[in-house]
Amino acid sequence: MEPSAEYLRSLFLPMDTPARVASVVGLAFGLLVLRYFLGVGLARLLARGRGLTASRRQLRSELLWSIAASAALAGLVAAGVQAYESGWTLLYFEVAERGWGYLAASFGIVLLVHETYYYWVHRLLHLDLFYRLLHRHHHQFVTPGPWAAFSFHPLEAAVSHAVLPALLLLIPLHPAVICAYLLWMAVSGAVNHLGAELYPSVADGRSWASRFARAAVGRTFIGATHHSQHHRLYRYNYGLALTLWDRVAGTQHPEFDADFDAASRGPVSGPTPDVQTSPSQIAASASMSE
Ligand SMILES: [Zn+2]
Repeated sequence: MEPSAEYLRSLFLPMDTPARVASVVGLAFGLLVLRYFLGVGLARLLARGRGLTASRRQLRSELLWSIAASAALAGLVAAGVQAYESGWTLLYFEVAERGWGYLAASFGIVLLVHETYYYWVHRLLHLDLFYRLLHRHHHQFVTPGPWAAFSFHPLEAAVSHAVLPALLLLIPLHPAVICAYLLWMAVSGAVNHLGAELYPSVADGRSWASRFARAAVGRTFIGATHHSQHHRLYRYNYGLALTLWDRVAGTQHPEFDADFDAASRGPVSGPTPDVQTSPSQIAASASMSE
């Protein structure tokens, strides 16, 4: 007999025993690790062999931190499931209830809210205390690889994504939007850390219209050039997937546009991979170059 949705649901919910809590966390963890591999795989496929190759040590470190961060994110998913069980969320399951327009708009809202939240959390994470406690793990390598997509201390991962389960309580969301956003984050995170610029620059387009459209994509969404400048120079480019807040708050690297055009056909410029950094080291090298 084919198991019904209700039967499957009863295996995990309600989360009233340690075993059921562990089942929900375990299932979420498995799916989050799967999306991480999918995101990296897709980014590498799109890069078609371009990008820097990391050492075994770097690869292992980025992989382990990303898996540890996925465990923390699984805890957030379980919190969201519990909130749903308690009747606190505005989740809805029929697209027709609010229409396709709302479905698309709600994805945009999640993207913008998380972008805004992440940008300011990231600025705080670069304060010396939080950097040393948490964020230095993400900056372990000056030239990260795509496997660094979720290479965060688990506590940092939980804090920087806490706004997502909170959104479930504030705006009506369809589960498909949440799944699509989680997948988008995985691809975007891998693309940011790829070491090769995937987004086309203005120089790639033929007609004026295509040049404008291509440049608008490349300058709106954060790619490898943008995030590589963050890893190299530490005090620019704090955005997650959009350049929006770096432009508004004046933290975008002044050479971004020029570097982006130069990198659109090759690897992003940067020092040798596998270099350890700290804020004081970077501050010292920045003041030497000024
Ligand atoms: Zn950072």
